[in-house]
Amino acid sequence: EDRQLVASPTRMGGQSGTGPKAVGVLAVVGRPNVGKSTLVNRILGRRVAVVEDTPGVTRDRVSYDAEWAGNDFKLVDTGGWEADVEGIESAIADQAQVAVRLSDVVILVVDGQVGVTATDEHIVRMLREAGKPVIVTVNKIDDYSGEYMAAEFWKLGLGEPHPVSAMHGHGVGDLLDVALETLKKAERTSGFLTPDGLRRVALVGRPNVGKSSLLNELAHEERSVVNDLAGTTRDPVDEVIAVDGEQWLFIDTAGIKRRVHKLSGAEYYSSLRTEAAIERSELALILFDASQPISDQDLKVMSQAVDAGRAIVLVFNKWDLMDEFDRQRLERLWQTEFERVTWARRVNLSALTGWHTNRLAEAMREALDSWDQRIPTGKLNSFLGTLQSAHPHPLRGGKQPRILFATQASTRPPRFVIFATGFLEHGYRRFIERSLREEFGFAGTPMQISVHIRE
Ligand code: GDP
Ligand code: GDP
Repeated sequence: EDRQLVASPTRMGGQSGTGPKAVGVLAVVGRPNVGKSTLVNRILGRRVAVVEDTPGVTRDRVSYDAEWAGNDFKLVDTGGWEADVEGIESAIADQAQVAVRLSDVVILVVDGQVGVTATDEHIVRMLREAGKPVIVTVNKIDDYSGEYMAAEFWKLGLGEPHPVSAMHGHGVGDLLDVALETLKKAERTSGFLTPDGLRRVALVGRPNVGKSSLLNELAHEERSVVNDLAGTTRDPVDEVIAVDGEQWLFIDTAGIKRRVHKLSGAEYYSSLRTEAAIERSELALILFDASQPISDQDLKVMSQAVDAGRAIVLVFNKWDLMDEFDRQRLERLWQTEFERVTWARRVNLSALTGWHTNRLAEAMREALDSWDQRIPTGKLNSFLGTLQSAHPHPLRGGKQPRILFATQASTRPPRFVIFATGFLEHGYRRFIERSLREEFGFAGTPMQISVHIRE
């Protein structure tokens, strides 16, 4: 009954941000169990089985590139999130605020089989304050005889309720028609759109590594809220902070300063916030507590930034606590846990004493220069030609794959496409990447190399 729902897999190869064709950003919010995840999966055309996540296992995506009737849009997902019943109201407020800030239009999901609840009303108050267009979506209306149940939701005061069954797909096409229509008319207020001219930095890391201390150290008293600048996004959670005389836009500083980490949903919530900040940034400053063992959570945050294709600077904080033994431990880790990012700049500093914080700016600039760097095709091919003559690919089944031609398809981050006569082994691709880095200096940026085979 519904048209085919099409969506592309998200952020393949680190592409992200609102694409040039995207009509806007749509967020799906609502209290737990109303069917947000089911609806998101339905819209993305994914198998609903994804909903059956183990409780407590956090999903680590927040936004997806989706398409409906020829329109690209971004979908922000807040599902997969659990809260204690006690803290539910404040937790939902946080969740809704993050999602709403990131979006242009909000889909509020409610449960048609349960009716209006106090928590629904609480969310509605929140949404009303945010002032963005809201589409009330009454889920679990599995057959037409139930449509009258949707009428109850008129009393939320947000306009016509749209009955759907996320599970069976009924009504989802109509809902998307309305949503896209609204998106096209809506003001672009999503946090994905940030002012020109300033480079965008996300300061990320697990709790307690010293993010808010570093932010305070950098900002001193000279904080200016983005609000004060003409033509910038009116989102007071971002701040312009001068680092070494240059202004940078620090993303979601409110999320850094606030510490509401007592709910069971806290980990999901903080990971949602981290990912949202990374999404909007060009550069991620990834903080570690150098005096403590590196944890899985530390490495996960780092992977989030690298996989999203952002420029990165690794910051080892609390250096004032380090002794010789700690320093050796960290050097060993550098060879193992950090093997994937040996191209990144490291800055050892102390947010507490301010020691070496003056080294950040240069590392940040260098990483972004690398991220932006483009190698002219002629130069690239002559380099690879010389490299290949000196170090040919190993023979495979009596044949020798050869590189025919290469080009840098894009920047931010740099992506290279190589045309070859046969499959290039993983080891050889790594060798090419290392050589490109040695020759052209891509410090601080991830890089992608894809190989196309031409017989
Ligand atoms: P979330 O917590 O809001 O993300 O909710 P989920 O998507 O995890 O769904 C909560 C429960 O409602 C799951 O057991 C779903 O199978 C069920 N559910 C979701 N959509 C529908 C629907 O359209 N009809 C019915 N009957 N159940 C649904
Ligand atoms: P966040 O959760 O990442 O924002 O971390 P905070 O900035 O709140 O810092 C967590 C704790 O580490 C606080 O008690 C800070 O005072 C302390 N801290 C932060 N930076 C340093 C540092 O460079 N040296 C030392 N010794 N302590 C630090």
